[in-house]
Amino acid sequence: MGNALIIVDVQNDFCEGGSLAVAGGADVAAGISRLLAAEPGGWDHVVATKDYHIDPGAHFGDPPDFVDSWPPHCVVGTQGSEFHPNLVTDRVEVIFHKGEHAAAYSGFEGHTDDGECLADWLRRHGVDQVEITGLATDFCVRATALDAAAEGFRTTVRLDLTAAIGPDTARGALQAFSDAGITTRGEPVIRAA
Ligand SMILES: [Zn+2]
Repeated sequence: MGNALIIVDVQNDFCEGGSLAVAGGADVAAGISRLLAAEPGGWDHVVATKDYHIDPGAHFGDPPDFVDSWPPHCVVGTQGSEFHPNLVTDRVEVIFHKGEHAAAYSGFEGHTDDGECLADWLRRHGVDQVEITGLATDFCVRATALDAAAEGFRTTVRLDLTAAIGPDTARGALQAFSDAGITTRGEPVIRAA
């Protein structure tokens, strides 16, 4: 069986200068690129997810509550939806887009251009272990990791290659990972404003 690195939502809008910036996001993007360069044979597969909104309804709030509703972000066709330039994407085999018409925090809600979901793609490629990196620790990384574990993948979160929106929600994510039997490595970047 094989393993995969999952890169969650390392997009311009979630990094410094973006509409829903996570402090430390640009460093996470660079750190993932360094990891990929340092371990050229480290994973059988490398995949990425993108938050990818057309009209996600109540996911965009005016004003947002920053719990269930957010400033507009990662709108299809905008620069904000593109991968951050610090992320070297040449080893990314496939991108799973999520959230076109509703909130979608987990990469497991995403699909390829052909409509294949992440769990099916991983199983079809013989993956049974996943390592998860990206943004943000306490929202989309959290949801992706919990779904990975629920789908039966042996799951590790590389916390040192994630950044969190806030300390309280980050603590909640760490507890949820522990409760779900998810392995973690390192500490998340938390630079709450
Ligand atoms: Zn979103």
